[in-house]
Amino acid sequence: MVYIDPEECIDCGACVPECPTEAIFHEEEVPEEWHRFIELNASKARECPPAE
Ligand code: SF4
Repeated sequence: MVYIDPEECIDCGACVPECPTEAIFHEEEVPEEWHRFIELNASKARECPPAE
C-alpha cells in the first residue's frame, strides 16, 4: 500500500495512469463512494515513512 502525502503532492497527475488498479484520483475527482479514503490517505501518509 502506498499513501500520497497531500501536503507534498503537486497534483502533476503523473502517477494516475501508472497505477495498475486505477486507484489514484485527483482529490476533486475521487468517486463519492470512496470519499472516506481521502482523510484515511492523509492520515496514513503522515504516519508512514517516505518511500526512497
Ligand atoms: S506523481 Fe502523483 S503523487 Fe506525485 S506529485 Fe504527481 S500527482 Fe502527486
